[in-house]
Amino acid sequence: MSTKDYLEKDYYKVLGVAKNASQDEIKKSYRKLARKYHPDANKGDSDAEDRFKEVSEAYDVLSDEKRRKEYDAVRAMPRGFRGGQQGGFGFDLGDLFGQSGTGGVGGAGDRIGDLFGGLFGRGGAGTRTAGARRGRRGADVETEVTLSFGRAMNGVTVPLKLTSEAACPSCRGTGARTGTVPRVCPNCEGTGHETRNLGSFGFQEPCRECRGRGLVVDDPCPTCHGSGRATGTRTIQARIPAGVADGQKIRLKGKGAPGENGGPAGDLYVDIKVKPHPVFGRDRDNLTLTVPVTFPEAALGAEIKVPTFQGQPVTLRLPEGTPNGRTFRVRGRGATRRDGTKGDLLVTVDVQVPQKVDDQTREALERLRASGAGDDLRSELLAKAREE
Ligand SMILES: [Zn+2]
Ligand SMILES: [Zn+2]
Repeated sequence: MSTKDYLEKDYYKVLGVAKNASQDEIKKSYRKLARKYHPDANKGDSDAEDRFKEVSEAYDVLSDEKRRKEYDAVRAMPRGFRGGQQGGFGFDLGDLFGQSGTGGVGGAGDRIGDLFGGLFGRGGAGTRTAGARRGRRGADVETEVTLSFGRAMNGVTVPLKLTSEAACPSCRGTGARTGTVPRVCPNCEGTGHETRNLGSFGFQEPCRECRGRGLVVDDPCPTCHGSGRATGTRTIQARIPAGVADGQKIRLKGKGAPGENGGPAGDLYVDIKVKPHPVFGRDRDNLTLTVPVTFPEAALGAEIKVPTFQGQPVTLRLPEGTPNGRTFRVRGRGATRRDGTKGDLLVTVDVQVPQKVDDQTREALERLRASGAGDDLRSELLAKAREE
């Protein structure tokens, strides 16, 4: 049985008994309901089957004095403790009840009382997170950094200024003056909400006395005025690995918000933005580059010089009859991969049409035209275009 089950299910309601019902009353009610919803008496009725299961589960817990006490204790806790719906913080019953073995309601109550020492409240209902005494992991923090193309390629350590909310250092998040502790709100008995009756309907709303916190502070901490919060700014040096690309998100373990009560720090997520380079582009681990070549270079073949990023130009051999748009690979001249190896430089040729034609060129082009290669270039296209 998980804490979550305990929080979501009202076993008293399921059995139709009062919270202070005796074992006799619980047993009586269970027997009545079990007979009513028993699968033998309700063949094929799945609603009845569900009800039967609910009733049995409720009875399992409430008929066992020890489990009933645990159940009552969990449900009596202020809402902030209820299992980390917001903060990803969870605890299990073993933490609360399984340790010292003092047993009994008093023992359990004392240990829950312990938890209040580490409470980190945020005021309004439903926005709080809670700390258990074993320490709560700090929140994950997200930030953004913009790098030049070169810095992204080479890797860089950048200072990042982070603002995060932490527990007030003076009161360690309790909101109470040093030496005092908050007490359970008498109005809502620590639940953080109260029920208002309107005609036959009951509405639950945040407790007005404690504003949903479940606890009241009589003597507020002078540093945080009772909120338990402090806003801190810190600068961390973030190591951005070589080869990061635009749009990538990197995780820096343990660089998020500090934990509470000795809990581990959260992680920092950095959204990487990379400014474009005028010449080079990125395609995963590869760099891309488009180079203009002349028609004779493409047609007859050539050795051309192409730039590499932060390196000497390399010679690329174009074979005879290189078509426009063909891509060549220059190995090892790309971006650094995670394992330290490098991607490639992908060079795409862009065959240029001469814009200015002098007499000599014109003569050469006329001879090329006369050689007739262009005559039936489009004949296949025209034929195929007639197909249905
Ligand atoms: Zn404080
Ligand atoms: Zn209250």
